[in-house]
Amino acid sequence: MPLPIFDGHNDFLLRLIAPGADRQAIWSGQTGGGHIDLPRMRAGGMAGGMFAIFIPSLRDNVVAGLDAEMTVAPYDLPLPGHLSLGAAQVSALAMAGHLHGLARDNPADLAICLTVADIRAAMASGRIAAVLHLEGAEPIDPDLDALYLFCDMGLRSLGPVWSRPTAFGHGVPFRFPGSPDTGPGLTDAGKRLVQTCNALRILIDLSHLNAKGVDDVAAISTAPLVATHSNAHAVTASSRNLTDRQLAMIRDSGGMVGLNFATAFLRPDGARDPVMGWEPVLRHLDHLIAQLGEDHVGFGSDFDGAAVPQGIGDAAGLPHLIEALRAHGYDQALLRKLAHENWLAVLERTWGG
Ligand code: ZN
Repeated sequence: MPLPIFDGHNDFLLRLIAPGADRQAIWSGQTGGGHIDLPRMRAGGMAGGMFAIFIPSLRDNVVAGLDAEMTVAPYDLPLPGHLSLGAAQVSALAMAGHLHGLARDNPADLAICLTVADIRAAMASGRIAAVLHLEGAEPIDPDLDALYLFCDMGLRSLGPVWSRPTAFGHGVPFRFPGSPDTGPGLTDAGKRLVQTCNALRILIDLSHLNAKGVDDVAAISTAPLVATHSNAHAVTASSRNLTDRQLAMIRDSGGMVGLNFATAFLRPDGARDPVMGWEPVLRHLDHLIAQLGEDHVGFGSDFDGAAVPQGIGDAAGLPHLIEALRAHGYDQALLRKLAHENWLAVLERTWGG
C-alpha cells in the first residue's frame, strides 16, 4: 500500500479541453498520455491534490513553445500578453465543468473537496480528493464579482497570476539564470483580490508571482503564505524558484512550499530534461526543510504541466520518489508530513477547521 500523497499542483484539467478530448476515457486511463489518470493515481498512492484551472493562450501554442525553448539554458523567454476576460472565462468554465462532470459521473472514485474534513473523508473512503485551484486570475473581473461564483463552484485556491500579466499583477518570466525580482507588484485590483480571498478563505498561491508581488501578498494577507509548486533558488537559480528571504517569510507566516517536479526548476543547470538522477530532488528538499522546517514542505508535482524526472515518470511512479527519500534518510514521520500531513495542516490553517 503506497504512502497516500496529497499534491499541491497538477494541470490534469488542461488535458480535458483539448479538441476532441473524451474526459471519461482520459480519467479512466483508456487514453494514456500525460501523467495522471485514475489507475495511475491509485497505483502511485496519489490520494488527491490541487487541480488547476490554467488558461492556455488561445492565439498560439505559447506553452508548448516555452517547453521547447527551456531545453537549453540560459534562456529568457518572452511572455504571452494579456488574455481577455471573456476568453479566459470560456476556458475556465469548461475546465471547472469537466471536474464537476467527472465527480458526478464517478462518485465512488472522485470527490471535489471544499474543506479539510472533505479531504480526510475522501482519502478514508478511497476517493481522489480534488481541490479546485485557479492558476492565474484572468477569469475574474477587476471588480471581483466572478470570484463569488467561482467560490460557489468550489474554488478554494487561487494564484493572482500565472507568468502572464493580469489585471491583478505581474508574473515571473521563465528565465534561467534569473532572479524572481522582475517588475512591479500587485495592482490595486490585486490587493483587493488578496483581501477578498482572505475573507472568502480562498488560499492565495505565490507560485508564479514575482518578488514584489510576493512582498505585497505578505504585507496584506492574513493567511499563511503558500507556494503550491516552487523550488529553492539557492539550488536552481530559476526566476520561478524561491529565494531564502522568501522562504523565511513563508516559514514565519506558518505557510508551506510544494516541491515542483518540473526538471527546469529542479536541475541546477535549469534544463528541461527528464534524464536525471535523484540528487537535485534531494538537494531541493534538504534545502527547503532546512529553511522552512519539517512542517512546511510538501509536494507540488506539476503533473500534466511539466517534464518530470524519469525516476518518477508519472503518478504511478510516486513510490519511487518516496523510496529515494527513505534511502536518503528521511524517516516515516517526515515522509508522512511531506506526503500529505503538511498540506492538510496548512489548508486547515487557511480555510479554518
Ligand atoms: Zn505553474
